[in-house]
Amino acid sequence: MAQLDQTHDPNRRSWVETANGADTDFPIQNLPFGVFSRAGEPARGGVAIGDQIVDLTAALRLGLFSGVAREAAEAATGPALNPLLALGRRHAAALRGRLSELLLAGGTESGRAPELASEVLVPMRDATMHLPARIEAFSDFSCSIYHTRRMGGGNPRPVFEQLPVAYNGRASSIRPSGTPVRRPLGQFGPSGSAPQYGPEPSMDFELEFGAFVGPGNALGEPIPITEAEAHIFGYCLVNDWSARGIQFFESALGPFLGKSFLTSVSPWVVTAEAMAPFRVPAPRGEGQRQPPAYLDSPQNRDEGGLDIELTASLLTPRMRAEGAAPARIVRANFKHMFWTMAQMLTHHASNGCNLSPGDLIASGTVSGPEEDSKACLAEINSRGETPLTLPNGETRNWLENGDEVSFAGRAHREGAVDIGFGICTGRVEPATVVRQ
Ligand code: CA
Repeated sequence: MAQLDQTHDPNRRSWVETANGADTDFPIQNLPFGVFSRAGEPARGGVAIGDQIVDLTAALRLGLFSGVAREAAEAATGPALNPLLALGRRHAAALRGRLSELLLAGGTESGRAPELASEVLVPMRDATMHLPARIEAFSDFSCSIYHTRRMGGGNPRPVFEQLPVAYNGRASSIRPSGTPVRRPLGQFGPSGSAPQYGPEPSMDFELEFGAFVGPGNALGEPIPITEAEAHIFGYCLVNDWSARGIQFFESALGPFLGKSFLTSVSPWVVTAEAMAPFRVPAPRGEGQRQPPAYLDSPQNRDEGGLDIELTASLLTPRMRAEGAAPARIVRANFKHMFWTMAQMLTHHASNGCNLSPGDLIASGTVSGPEEDSKACLAEINSRGETPLTLPNGETRNWLENGDEVSFAGRAHREGAVDIGFGICTGRVEPATVVRQ
């Protein structure tokens, strides 16, 4: 069962004042992990609080941690969080508990606030965020029945309800939020006619949700569904940028160059502990096929889902020039996904495939049933037929150069403090010049 403890107490406030605003993504109830650097300093682990970062290396120097919390902090001092992910959720929870105590307004440690503020906090505006982990493997699922229906023009194949479908993605081209996405080159064209080779004409995004693997499994040893949650360290936002022309032309076997040119992730890993208040029953409707036994458990049925609103906004070069705010073009929720993250992870390892600390699993486009929850342009424009109209009158079938797509995620529940995921953004740049 997802456990709530004093770190989730909605009455907790921090002496870091910016952590107490209603709009912050990073209240004291969140405390996500990331990797940051300042100019001339090495990249290292930190924890977000309001508009500040807790520098875990500096906190260790002050001797603020002991026991399991100290082991966790020591595992987060390098340029990637893989050692912390390998330790797993008990360590993450211990460090979270200690940080919550240290940052608590009126807590036993609040007398040290001035010292901590000057020695341990780094303003986010002074920091560069990096990938949170060295990602050696990336798998992309496709778990929205709404996305699958709209993209396929009808009901998905029976396999969709029998197992969470996925493909092995490309890990080497995953980049943190803010990295520009260069329009890829490739072959495309209507089926039955001669293909062209050139800059992708149909650039798209896919609003997805991701999970970072914790300890993982040895080769040949599946992960039972009852143990899956122990291997999900935390979550992030994922933009599975998609070149639809290349993708639709090449997909005899599955996606390849249409997806592998770049994938963006938000830099903060929101822990499974922080998400505990936002769990909901697994989203399986009446009359839909029940999962096979290896993907079914009472816990997964009761609380395998996550209630997180995910939004996408678009800023065009004209909007930027006019000083307009980005236009929200998608509002979806992860709770509508047909399969849970635990089911994705267990299915992934069910043939004995080994998952390692830092591996990234993405959910697939998180489209829901509502009109505004179509979570990629190919759904919004009905595969190129009905362009999106923006507030300033501009239209878009596909992304143009200079367009910037930004994702946000927000978990909300009565009786809990809202937490967020930070931003996952990227701007489309022109293709490189074709060399024949
Ligand atoms: Ca995808």
